[in-house]
Parts: sequence; C-alpha cells; structure tokens
Amino acid sequence: MPGSRFPRRRRDSASPDSSIALVSELNLILLGPPGAGKGTQAERLQDDFPIAYVATGDMLRQAVKDGTGLGREAKAYMDRGDLVPDGVITGVIIDAVKGSDCEDGFLLDGFPRTVAQAESLDEGLQGLDRSLSAVLLIDVPEDEVVRRLSGRRVCPQGHVYHVEHNPPKVDGKCDIDGERLSQRDDDREETIRKRLQVYRDQTAPLIDFYDDRGLLHRFDGTRTPQEVHDHLRATVSTLRLENQL
Ligand SMILES: [Zn+2]
Repeated sequence: MPGSRFPRRRRDSASPDSSIALVSELNLILLGPPGAGKGTQAERLQDDFPIAYVATGDMLRQAVKDGTGLGREAKAYMDRGDLVPDGVITGVIIDAVKGSDCEDGFLLDGFPRTVAQAESLDEGLQGLDRSLSAVLLIDVPEDEVVRRLSGRRVCPQGHVYHVEHNPPKVDGKCDIDGERLSQRDDDREETIRKRLQVYRDQTAPLIDFYDDRGLLHRFDGTRTPQEVHDHLRATVSTLRLENQL
C-alpha cells in the first residue's frame, strides 16, 4: 500500500512547483433526494473548480465495460439480478479516486447511499491518506420533489417538458417534432414516492452522520438553480481558502 507508506505530497505555498502552489485538494460529496438537481449543480461546479465529477452509476458501468477485477465482480452480481455489495462499489469508487483526474479533488454523486457505505468510504480514503473536505446537501421537501418529477413529460425522441415549468406550446405535443408527449414510468407519483422512501430510510441518516463529523453544509434546493449554484460556489470557494491556510 504505497498510500500509507508515502503520504501524499501536500500542495502548500512552500511547494517547489509554483504552478500548482495554489491548488488544494477538495474531496466533496453531493447529497440530496432524487430530483434535487444534483447533476445540474455538479456540472456547474466543475466549470468553477478543478474537481472531477464521480457519478457512481457511470463508474460502475465503466468498470464493468473495462472488465477490471472489480468490474467483473460487480457484473457477476448484476447478471444474477443481485445488488452489488458495498465493498465492491466502494472499491470501484476508490479506484476512480486514485486516478490522476481526481488529484485535485473529486465530487461524489450517488455514493455513499447508506451509513455502511459511508464508513467503508472513510476507510478506503484513509488508506490513500486522504479524507473528505465537505458534504454538500441540497435539501428539497418531498412534496416539491414529487411536483418536479411527476410533472415531467417526454416525446419519443427524448425531448423533455414540464407541465408547470416548461410546458409545450400545444398541450400534449412536442414543440419540435409534434409527437405525443407521455409520462415515463419512473416519473409516476407512486414510483417517486417509493424512491423517496428508500432515500428517507437509507440515505437520509447520512445527514446526521456527516453533521456529527462537522462536514455537512446545507443548501435550500427550493431556490432557483442559479441561486443554489451561487450558494454552493461561495461555500466551495471558502473551503478552498481554508484548505490553503
Ligand atoms: Zn420531440
């Protein structure tokens, strides 16, 4: 384990390489219910800061595609229709974090989803001589999530509308190709309520878990995406400054 014997070089102002003197590592987790806009915010944060976006689903699919040891292990579970165990998922995430694009930090989305996963992430990061800088919670009440997601309509070509926030010019018809709009199964209220319950039972306990460790920052996800982004950016900027002191 090179991580434990050779601690990572800290990039402070005394670094001999002045070109990276101002860069400091930011290891972040994005937390929040489905429909909170995490993906949108993650995209915007990447434009502001040199941090790699690590979306768990993508990482897992990539590991399976690349046929890495962990990828093959994960695939065996998936092929049987079983859930991929925490240890395997954490391994995939830790592999991703070791990559050169995550040297300056990472933004995890979709992981951890449970306290057990959070604990195994802590261990994995410790093995790399790294730790979390902060957890960013985008908070949105359940009824608002249901309003947002159940209002979505799509056409067969994949154009997306929202009955309240982005309605088509003609009711039920796509503006671009005139095809009929429909609601995806995933966007039905019953399905959304089920996903929210899973979030409430399994993922929401992470809020206290990280709050107790002094890592949690809350953001009001009912504000406009621009406002949420402004607040997130201000917080991440502050964290970065603190890191450099
Ligand atoms: Zn269309």
